[in-house]
Amino acid sequence: MNIILLGPPGAGKGTQARKLVEERNMVQLSTGDMLRAARTSGTEMGQKVAAVMDRGDLVTDEIVIGLIREQLESDKAGGGYIFDGFPRTLAQADALGRLLVDMGENLDCVIEMQVDDEALVGRITARSTCGACGEVYNDNTKPIPADGKCTNCGASDFQRRADDNADSLRTRLMAYYKQTSPLVGYYYAKGDLVSVDGLASMDDVATSIASALRQNE
Ligand code: AMP
Repeated sequence: MNIILLGPPGAGKGTQARKLVEERNMVQLSTGDMLRAARTSGTEMGQKVAAVMDRGDLVTDEIVIGLIREQLESDKAGGGYIFDGFPRTLAQADALGRLLVDMGENLDCVIEMQVDDEALVGRITARSTCGACGEVYNDNTKPIPADGKCTNCGASDFQRRADDNADSLRTRLMAYYKQTSPLVGYYYAKGDLVSVDGLASMDDVATSIASALRQNE
């Protein structure tokens, strides 16, 4: 089963993707994570996209489609793929459709996670992640444990993303509404869209996603 998690920054796509990886043996393909890894390892592409990402703009379709193509060619996913943060433009959506057809695969379901802007700003500016395992923390709702150790893996390396600040967030939200939100209509028209309330608790969102996936199995 191959699915897309669609939603603005801070909607909880990464958190839900991690749950699905654990519970359903799926493979998470996050273009944001791939781009951050390219930056950290200092590749030419990583250096090229750094300023664009820090500003909160989208990197080119060519780069992200290339990243996804590479992963699909190298990574065989027994339980299927979760596309997290990809596609973000209509051109990316078309390219993904063609890549899946070439592989003899289907897109089974697109989950739209709906969260209002005010909540997103609150979530993102309070967000930090474990540098070792990616567990997500929030200063208000899930603070870093008092002993300074990640509850998931025990590491003590907590990080805040360079683009999790009010200025970049404004640009990221604008990019979402201008370039990505048309995908809601695109997938609705194809009959693939299921919308869930991203403001519900993490477990309730997971339950809604699980029931949407069951209906597509
Ligand atoms: P994310 O981790 O998904 O919030 O992505 C972080 C940043 O990476 C975004 O603000 C963009 O600059 C870039 N990015 C990630 N995925 C894409 C994509 N599919 N298309 C264009 N830019 C992307």
